[in-house]
Amino acid sequence: MIDAQAVDKYDFRLVFLGPPGVGKGTQAKLLAKKCGIAHISTGEMLRDAVSRGTDLGKRVEPLIAAGEYVSDELMCEVVSERLKREDCARGFILDGFPRTVAQAEMLKSVLGESGISLSGVVCFDLLREDLQARLEARRSLEARADDSVEVQLHRLEVYNEKTAPLIAYYEGASGFIRVNGSGEVDDVFNRLCCALSI
Ligand code: AMP
Repeated sequence: MIDAQAVDKYDFRLVFLGPPGVGKGTQAKLLAKKCGIAHISTGEMLRDAVSRGTDLGKRVEPLIAAGEYVSDELMCEVVSERLKREDCARGFILDGFPRTVAQAEMLKSVLGESGISLSGVVCFDLLREDLQARLEARRSLEARADDSVEVQLHRLEVYNEKTAPLIAYYEGASGFIRVNGSGEVDDVFNRLCCALSI
């Protein structure tokens, strides 16, 4: 499922996994910049659609605000269109997608149609108390509509129910790595680069 041989500094095709607040968005931005590959954050794409008031934005706005997932079919449409863009040719990091086993299956077939596969999956781990502290900090730093205490807790529940099973789905395949997400951004980034041997 994951093609470890294809891992190349300039041709990563990665999925970043981990609960909300683990810091995967920050790490994805840093790695995308370092390697010159595309950073695809589905959360950012959807928030952008909401702020522009597009049809997609209108459909997803109430779901995001409630901490619920957007449907697998709609997400796959959004991501497969995004993957066609030129900036993905040298590699990409998917941050926030897939979030369900059905999405992972759809991703596999979308990539397969282009004759490619993932080069790896990075799973970020963080203790629950550290996660809670990060989410609390984010509440005061970022003005996200889905960052109220209630919605954050609900998002964690939805993650545990629908996304955590993806770890077992990808674990064991070559190219699957775990990165300890605790500590400063730079420390986590060093661990990530070490784990990717870059
Ligand atoms: P994020 O910024 O990744 O935390 O995503 C914010 C919100 O966007 C999520 O809570 C979901 O409502 C929605 N979302 C983003 N990516 C997905 C996905 N792959 N599947 C379903 N919903 C998603």
